[in-house]
Amino acid sequence: MITSKTSFLALIGNPVSHSLSPIMQNAAIQYLGLDLIYMAIPCENEDLEIVINSLKKMNCKGLNVTIPFKQKVFDICSEISPVAKKVKAINTLKLNDNKDWIGTNTDIDGFIYPLKNLNLAKKTALILGSGGAARSVIQGLIELKLSKITIISRNNNSLDGLISNFKYDIDIEGLLNTNNEIDNLIQETDLIINTTPVGMSNTTNYDVIPFGQSFWSAINSKTIVYDLIYNPSPTPFLKFCDKKGCMTIDGTNMLIAQGAQSLSFWTNGLEVPFEVMHDALKKYL
Ligand code: NAP
Repeated sequence: MITSKTSFLALIGNPVSHSLSPIMQNAAIQYLGLDLIYMAIPCENEDLEIVINSLKKMNCKGLNVTIPFKQKVFDICSEISPVAKKVKAINTLKLNDNKDWIGTNTDIDGFIYPLKNLNLAKKTALILGSGGAARSVIQGLIELKLSKITIISRNNNSLDGLISNFKYDIDIEGLLNTNNEIDNLIQETDLIINTTPVGMSNTTNYDVIPFGQSFWSAINSKTIVYDLIYNPSPTPFLKFCDKKGCMTIDGTNMLIAQGAQSLSFWTNGLEVPFEVMHDALKKYL
């Protein structure tokens, strides 16, 4: 029950109306019997500072941060976790006892969650896309101790940025999607991760697969294919790879695991029920 003592958590971004976080977070909050609610706050770029500073003065316990603010909130934090600094993005903020914001990033643990038991140490991975999510994926693969990462992208500048950020942590290379070596790499790689929005519902690319079907002629049934997109689930890319015999993983478990990790952070380490969040999403979708 919401009472005059109830505090709140929120997602801040623009847009936020499509977000599934309120559904899964409120299910977990109710299950745990916490006197909290979770809601979405749409915020314009120019209002970010005033909104965040005002939330400090209210009964707000923490925030999730999404596009386009994951970098912008660095300036308002008094403390930032090493992992958020490394991937240059904050997706979770918590108010400390002095009412200062602490920032961290739970996307890395979220990404790792469905891969944890697959013994990927010393294996190789191909990442499609070189945007914000690719940073969390690279950091996750470093933590899983893969031996080599190749990023395939159409954008030379962002490829260079990723390579210089991670080149001392793992054997990493960036290739444009027109590179001739790619067929061999696709044939040999152990894991492929799509971090592009290609195949996502409500976009112009909802019915296509990254770089087109002919790009994937060499794909091997031994390869694990992970698509960060959770709507639709499965994406056209995962359906295509499933038909080729690959093991496929969609973005749902990453979404839930990063949310569970954020709720645990806000509640100082409570064990958050993954299945409750999963069931709430399944019922809603
Ligand atoms: P982003 O920063 O905009 O990066 C997107 C990347 O994809 C860029 O490298 C972009 O290249 C590339 N790209 C876009 N359209 C493309 C196309 N038609 N063909 C080839 N490459 C294309 O976005 P993001 O924040 O990384 O998010 C990417 C995806 O991950 C989204 O679908 C998001 O929903 C998903 N995601 C899921 C979770 C989860 O919890 N499951 C978490 C985070 C993100 P250019 O620079 O050339 O445009």
